Amino acid sequence: MGYLGEEVAPDAKKVAMYGKGGIGKSTTCQNTAAALAYFYNKKCMIHGCDPKADTTRMILHGKPQDTVMDLIREEGEEALTLDRVRKVGFEGILCVESGGPEPGVGCAGRGVITAVQKMLELGGYPDDLDFLFFDVLGDVVCGGFGMPLREGLAKEVYIVSSGEMMAVYAANNISKGVRRYAERSGVRLGGIICNSRNVDGERELMEEFCDKLGTKMIYFVPRDNIVQKAEFQKMTVVEYDPDCNQAQEYRKLGKKIEENDELVIPTPLAMDELEKLCEKYGLYG
Ligand code: ADP
Ligand code: MG
Repeated sequence: MGYLGEEVAPDAKKVAMYGKGGIGKSTTCQNTAAALAYFYNKKCMIHGCDPKADTTRMILHGKPQDTVMDLIREEGEEALTLDRVRKVGFEGILCVESGGPEPGVGCAGRGVITAVQKMLELGGYPDDLDFLFFDVLGDVVCGGFGMPLREGLAKEVYIVSSGEMMAVYAANNISKGVRRYAERSGVRLGGIICNSRNVDGERELMEEFCDKLGTKMIYFVPRDNIVQKAEFQKMTVVEYDPDCNQAQEYRKLGKKIEENDELVIPTPLAMDELEKLCEKYGLYG
């Protein structure tokens, strides 16, 4: 059966970063792309799929970007050109934002699919991309959040999580989505990125959780205030200070993703199992 993702940049490594709101998807996505472009000369593109539309802001130095859905809504499909919705940022990274439906009206997932279809029509994904990153919000339990999985936009899903109850809960739900659509679209889980909140036992919790999911913690990203400092200058840490430790962490994460070939169909935990795990590490809703 055909699915949309087949047509999208078939030769690129297509990566989706999923996770609950505020967990650090956009930060991780932008810094990893920046690191791959800066340290390894990779051609990268970021397609933001969070209705919040702030996936590409640091790459573009804070310049607001027209989103595909907003432009269609406000000016009609005729107004949609590559120049308006695809911007070039740090190290030549290409940036697109899907945008969202009008709050309380349409479906965010459908908006993402429309935006990808429009990009395909415009020839917006170059043939020579090395990496294409999708940044997808995944704490909403509705059909919409599953759409990018169902359509296999990215072959590899990485879940950004931390040792906090809601982040783990969301990660488990996202794994259910991956499992559900694995057969249809070939989507696989590449691993969990622990974006540390510096809570006790975080690494151990994530490792045990990954084990139960049948995946691995592909990287443990430390929490570092230099992320905020760079943000204040409207930059990724990679651009702000490529020699700093945090930039090197994102470089290593990028390398791990590039080399990862353990792509799995996860085995999500049952609710009681998840609760037991959280209790063991002292997490309560
Ligand atoms: P999401 O895209 O998942 O909603 P963001 O990437 O916007 O989340 O992250 C929310 C905030 O958390 C960011 O503004 C950033 O300041 C902070 N943050 C994310 N990751 C880190 C980190 N590793 N160290 C320090 N701050 C971080
Ligand atoms: Mg975000």
